Amino acid sequence: MILDVIERSLRQPSRLIPVEALLGNCDGSRMPDVVVDHLTPDIARKLSEVCPTMAFGIEAQEGRDCLRLSYGRCIGCGRCMEAGQGCVIAAKHFHWCGVTKAQTVRFWDIDGRAEITPHAPNPQDTRGQIPSLLQRALNIRQLDAGSCNGCEAEITALTNPYYDLERFGIHFVASPKHADMLLVTGPVTRNMADAVRATYEAVPAPKLVVAVGACGCSGGIFAGSHAIVGAVDAVIPVDGYIPGCPPTPSMLASGVLEVLRRRLAR
Ligand code: SF4
Ligand code: SF4
Repeated sequence: MILDVIERSLRQPSRLIPVEALLGNCDGSRMPDVVVDHLTPDIARKLSEVCPTMAFGIEAQEGRDCLRLSYGRCIGCGRCMEAGQGCVIAAKHFHWCGVTKAQTVRFWDIDGRAEITPHAPNPQDTRGQIPSLLQRALNIRQLDAGSCNGCEAEITALTNPYYDLERFGIHFVASPKHADMLLVTGPVTRNMADAVRATYEAVPAPKLVVAVGACGCSGGIFAGSHAIVGAVDAVIPVDGYIPGCPPTPSMLASGVLEVLRRRLAR
């Protein structure tokens, strides 16, 4: 009986998602995108007012008034999409994962109606190098520095039979001493700051640190709270940022590979 089941399952085509599809577009990110043709000074002001985390704001760049969108602060609440009068839509493609902090921020010239982001990442960089990135094993230690566990739920999904990150040689390990990368979630609470530093020290060099979620990238909805020290980079050096609240498994996988790609490119 059990042999029949095994035989039947072996005859089934694989339902695992290919890594290229996994990183294809980061569906379901809930991150906003700006339709620049609809951008006006009034809408820019309104977006800055409704955004609860100040992800949207107005900032001068090269002497011009610009609409700023910081993905590291965005919690995907959708208020900007409701208030934006068609100027803000849900991003169809999201490739701001695993990038530097500067690269998580986009700018649009309000009067000129054009994007003038100075450090935009190239989404093809990681995808073009997937085979070489996956030639070696990568051990990840996940560290909760004060998260609500929403990010952990998505990280856990990376090991389920659909995403199955283990098939690419990417493993989660129990001890920081066995890790190459720290994946840190949550804003760093005052109670956890020493533990975060100690965990970082325990990871052998060369080590990589990835800040996960709006909380890890910027403090998210907890920014400014007396109970937190701040984002992850307020306590330890960070190599890459993965926005989202929480980031989807695709965003997490994409971010981990992008951080790895940038390290190997150095
Ligand atoms: S989705 Fe919410 S947090 Fe993100 S930019 Fe829009 S209003 Fe701000
Ligand atoms: S980013 Fe969102 S899901 Fe992740 S820990 Fe913070 S509040 Fe929770």
